[in-house]
Amino acid sequence: MLRIVCPYCGPRPESEFHCAGDADRRRPEPEAGDEVWADYLYIRANPKGLHRERWVHAAGCGQWLVVERDTVSHEILVAAPLADLSRGGAA
Ligand SMILES: [Zn+2]
Repeated sequence: MLRIVCPYCGPRPESEFHCAGDADRRRPEPEAGDEVWADYLYIRANPKGLHRERWVHAAGCGQWLVVERDTVSHEILVAAPLADLSRGGAA
């Protein structure tokens, strides 16, 4: 089991969190074509190595985080508030 260090609550078990996928994935504009929307909705990358993901501390503070995780070793290198992403923070 992973232990994620929530910036608000401290170290917690993975079971308290929910992963919402790629942190760098951006929703297409409404007028984007069907192919763009199909890729956005159904195609997922399966990266090997470092990956940035959005997680929510669903059974804790309810805050959204950006977690940088190695998909091979499952080591978590960064867990930062999602708000830091828009401010150019470390996430
Ligand atoms: Zn928390």
